[in-house]
Amino acid sequence: MKEIGIIILVLLGAFVVITLIRAIFFKEKKQETEKLLPEMINMEKYCKDLSDAIKIKTISNYDRELVDWAEFDRFHAFLEERFPLVHKTMTKTKVADASLVYKWEGTDPSLDGIAMLAHQDVVPITAGTEQDWEHEPFSGYNDGEFIWGRGAMDMKNHLIAVMECMEELINEGFRPKRTVYICLGHNEEVVAAPDNGAKQIAAYLKEQGVHLEAVLDEGGAILPVKLGKLLDINLTGVGIAEKGSVNYKVSVNAKGGHSSQPPKHTAVGKLADVIKDIENHQFKATMPDYLKQLIKRVGMNAGYPLRVVLVNAPILQPLILAICKNIPAAASLIRTCTAVTMAEGSPQFNVLPQKASVTVNFRTMPGVSIKDVEQHIRDSVRNKDIDVEFLVGKESSQVSPTDSRAFQTIKELAEAQNSKNLVTPFLVMGGTDAYNYEPVCENIYRFAPFVADTKLLLCTHGTNERIPIACCEDAIAFFKRYIRKMTQD
Ligand SMILES: [Zn+2]
Repeated sequence: MKEIGIIILVLLGAFVVITLIRAIFFKEKKQETEKLLPEMINMEKYCKDLSDAIKIKTISNYDRELVDWAEFDRFHAFLEERFPLVHKTMTKTKVADASLVYKWEGTDPSLDGIAMLAHQDVVPITAGTEQDWEHEPFSGYNDGEFIWGRGAMDMKNHLIAVMECMEELINEGFRPKRTVYICLGHNEEVVAAPDNGAKQIAAYLKEQGVHLEAVLDEGGAILPVKLGKLLDINLTGVGIAEKGSVNYKVSVNAKGGHSSQPPKHTAVGKLADVIKDIENHQFKATMPDYLKQLIKRVGMNAGYPLRVVLVNAPILQPLILAICKNIPAAASLIRTCTAVTMAEGSPQFNVLPQKASVTVNFRTMPGVSIKDVEQHIRDSVRNKDIDVEFLVGKESSQVSPTDSRAFQTIKELAEAQNSKNLVTPFLVMGGTDAYNYEPVCENIYRFAPFVADTKLLLCTHGTNERIPIACCEDAIAFFKRYIRKMTQD
C-alpha cells in the first residue's frame, strides 16, 4: 500500500514539475506584423457626420405602418449630401422599404466582390427613461470625449466609419480590383421582421448572380481585459457564427370546469412538472473549437501563474465545462440555452384551465436545428400527453472558416494596429444582418473594430449609449486597410 502512495506522490510531483516547465514555453512567438502606414482620416468630419446621423431618428418597428419613413428618407438625403464622392462613383440601389446597396465595380468584375454591412436603424428609447440620459438621446452631443445618443454604438458609428473610409479611398484615387458593396439594411433591430431588408438585399444580389468573397458586419468588438500582471490584452473577437433562436409552445390539456370541484392537479399543476423536466434537462455542453482557440491564445499571452493553469486547459476541459455551466453568461457559449419565458392558464379565478401552456425560448448552437429542439423537448418531458407547437424561430448560422483570406486579413490588420489586440474567433449570441448573406457568401465575419469596455457595451440599446471618439480613428483606418487589402487581388 505504502508503495502505491509513494508512486502516486512521485507521479503527482512529476506532473507539477512538467507543468511548471511547460508553462515557461507556453508562450506565443511574437509574430512579425507588417508595418502599417498612417492613413488620412478627417476626424473632425467624422465626428460631425456621426453626430448629425444620430439626430435622424431611424427607428425600426415590427409593424411597418408604425415606422416614420420620412426619417429614413432624411437619412438617405443626409448620406448623399455628406458623401458626394461615394454617390458619384458607386451605383446606389434601394431595396425593400429603405435598404440601400452601393456598388463600386472592380477593375476585374470576374472576381468575387466583398461586402461591408451596416444597419441604418436604431432601437427606440424605452418609455420613461428619457430623463435618465445625460444628454438627449437624439442630440448626437459631442463633449469632446464621447459622442452621445442612440446608435452611437449600434451602429451608426460603424456605418459612418465605412462611408467615411469609402469617401477617403475614392478621394485618394484608389481603384479596387474586386467589386466593393456597401449594404445598409433598414430593420436589423426588428427580430424576425417579415420584410427583413438584409434578406432582401441578399436575394437581390443572388438574383444579380453575385457571389461574395467576404462579408463584414457588426458583432465582435475590441474588449480590453486587464487582470493585474496576469493579463493585459485587447480581446478582439471576430464572430464566425451566431446562435439561432427558436420558440416553442408546450401545452397540457385537461377537462376544465368549475374551480369549486377541482381535481388533484389542474392543467397548470401538470404543467409545473413539464417546466421542471424542461429546465432540468439542459442541452449537452461541449467545448467548441473557437473556444479552445480562444483559451489557448489567451493562455499563451498571459503572465506565468495563469499560464501554469491554462497550459493544462485540454486536460481541465471537463472542469472548465462544469464551471461554465453554472455561470449563465459562460453557459451560453457552450450549449443551446433554454429559457421558459411566458405562461398561460385559465382566463378566470374560478375557471379550471382546459389548457395550460408555456413558451420556451431556445438559443441554439451551430449544429443544433429547430427540429432537434422539438425532439429534445419530447425526450425531456416525462408526460407524453403534451402538445409541442413551433411558434417562430431562426436556425443558427453556418460557421465561417478561420483560414480564409478575409479572416486572416482581419487578424493581421487588427494585430498590426495594436500589439495588445489578440484576435480570436467567437460565437455571437444575438442575431445580425450578416446571417442573411449565407446564400451568397461562405466567409461571413462579424467584427466592429472599435475598442469598447464592457461598461460601454452595456449601454447599447440602453441609457447613455455613447462612443469614445478616441477609438474611431483606428476603426476607420482598419476599414480602409481592409478594403484595400481585400480588393487588390
Ligand atoms: Zn446592431
